[in-house]
Amino acid sequence: MKCERCLGPMVYERVLYQGRIYDMWKCLMCGDVIDWIILLNRTHPSLVEEALKKKSEETFQEEIHHCA
Ligand SMILES: [Zn+2]
Repeated sequence: MKCERCLGPMVYERVLYQGRIYDMWKCLMCGDVIDWIILLNRTHPSLVEEALKKKSEETFQEEIHHCA
């Protein structure tokens, strides 16, 4: 897996956050992060829409803040 920004090497990370596990890729060069939502959105946009609908808006905002 290579970073789309800088083509640097990306490492797979499994992050535990508020009792849930999130899988993501992180670039070692520029620190860019690709999480499952972004990856899934590229391949199966409709699945992401469904997943996000199930979350409360409050929870989603927290996740955005955490990733930023
Ligand atoms: Zn990068």
